[in-house]
Amino acid sequence: MGSIAFTVACPGCGHEFREALEKLQNGAVVCPSCREEIEVHLRDELGRDMTTRFGPVRTIQGARSVRYSIELSHPQLHKHRLIQGPDLETIKAKAAHQAAEWDEVWEKRSNILQKLRTDEEKRQEAAQRTQEAQAALQSVGRS
Ligand SMILES: [Zn+2]
Repeated sequence: MGSIAFTVACPGCGHEFREALEKLQNGAVVCPSCREEIEVHLRDELGRDMTTRFGPVRTIQGARSVRYSIELSHPQLHKHRLIQGPDLETIKAKAAHQAAEWDEVWEKRSNILQKLRTDEEKRQEAAQRTQEAQAALQSVGRS
């Protein structure tokens, strides 16, 4: 345990499952439900839920001790963070925690953007319908 895991939604059958970052970094995972191979682009976006990008875990060999580091970034939020320390599991946990935090912020923000867009569409649609109704009334009046 202690590895970073993500929820993957299968584009084939819609099944959602947890997969470890190490496996996702191989570039492809197999859906446990339909056995379909799902291509994973960790460097690209994997839907809205997983937008934090992870760099590889680096090992820094010191004279007496080993340190580890992992780089995280969230391009949409313009965030970047380097997490490092002597314990690999702690770093992974910190990285997962940070990613969850950023992804949550981003999910909320993109939902708001989505809502604003939908409201604007509704407003335009209503205006369009009013115009059409007026045009119909006018043509009725003329005949
Ligand atoms: Zn599937």
